[in-house]
Amino acid sequence: MRAFVDKDTCIGCGLCADLCPEVFSMDDDGTASAIDTEIPEDAEDAAKEAADQCPVQAITIEED
Ligand code: SF4
Repeated sequence: MRAFVDKDTCIGCGLCADLCPEVFSMDDDGTASAIDTEIPEDAEDAAKEAADQCPVQAITIEED
């Protein structure tokens, strides 16, 4: 499973990085990014939760 953040859509609320810091982090430009590798198995649920909770649906989860 992988996660992607659409930086044009992200409003920089920080929620994803709070919910799932293993996968999401905030960049200097104020928007979030996701790790560019496989999501660790123990972080999958939190990553999905972050995608669900993102207020602007900027997060895409790609299942294997
Ligand atoms: S939850 Fe959504 S809007 Fe908020 S920082 Fe993450 S990707 Fe951006």
